[in-house]
Amino acid sequence: MANIGFIGLGNMGGPMAQNLVKAGHNVSVFDLMPAAVQQLVEAGAEASESAEQAASGKDFVITMLPAGKHVESLYLSESFISNLSESTRIIDCSTIDAETAKKVAAGLSDKGFSFIDAPVSGGVAGAAAGTLTFIVGGSAENFEAASPILSNMGKNVFHAGDVGAGQVAKICNNMLLSILMAGTSEALQMGIDNGLDPKVLSDIMLQSSGRNWTLELYNPCPGVLDNVPSSNNYQGGFMVDLMLKDLGLAMDTAQTSKSATPMGALAQNLYRLHAQNGKGSNDFSSIFEMFSATKS
Ligand code: NAD
Repeated sequence: MANIGFIGLGNMGGPMAQNLVKAGHNVSVFDLMPAAVQQLVEAGAEASESAEQAASGKDFVITMLPAGKHVESLYLSESFISNLSESTRIIDCSTIDAETAKKVAAGLSDKGFSFIDAPVSGGVAGAAAGTLTFIVGGSAENFEAASPILSNMGKNVFHAGDVGAGQVAKICNNMLLSILMAGTSEALQMGIDNGLDPKVLSDIMLQSSGRNWTLELYNPCPGVLDNVPSSNNYQGGFMVDLMLKDLGLAMDTAQTSKSATPMGALAQNLYRLHAQNGKGSNDFSSIFEMFSATKS
């Protein structure tokens, strides 16, 4: 059983913190939204009045915040650092750019604290079910120390490399996912335009070389699969706006490393247009509508 401070109790952080409580840890929580804190108190956590209070004297501090600027302003603030115990280990699960993760790690390391980036894959449903995949960047020792805690919130914990590597691996995955979703949508719509049944076409491609995760488990064409966002008016799942955020991070990373990412850039533009069409809060599989809308 560990003493854990958890900061950022939104769609992801709330259920993640609940799973730590269920696993028997002492969890002190803080969020700018009092209602989010209250929900965790009802689940058995202890309320804190500030991030400093949540982190004070803890074995682990975990953050699940919206973006890099929130992570940086918290961890590089003198008042926050001065409240940490010498042995406190810091785990940031937010999806942010690798450069900010490295900057925060360096700032904390100067004061003697360890840091890992541990972004997640699996979405809100995975956070609630405790089946997230954690993709960790940091030293082997820090990875080993954090793994048992992360395992209470997820079923896969990967060590991608040094600090920042977790973020890079996560956005490589999400860039590929966006490309696969757009490509799958395009192929399905072309089949429909030429008289094919999208379910039959999906079955054929699933046994052929076009097989991929979006086609098999998250089919973007309404009616092909039950229990996926496309069969629920694209509600639930992973929002277009969040995919756009990750594609922005991917493009920044490509710029820094001078990597050629033409497919990622195209996917970013498609998703941006889609968001500008008012689809930002729909599931990302709704990119299918970019192709189908011209036919209706
Ligand atoms: P969210 O907006 O629902 O939650 C963020 C929470 O952080 C909010 O409750 C907000 O009040 C709180 N917060 C912001 N600044 C704070 C501060 N200084 N101190 C304390 N609390 C603060 O976001 P989310 O969906 O939970 O996502 C969190 C992170 O996880 C993001 O980086 C996102 O990209 C990533 N992520 C989200 C999903 C998803 O499906 N939602 C999936 C994978 C990764």
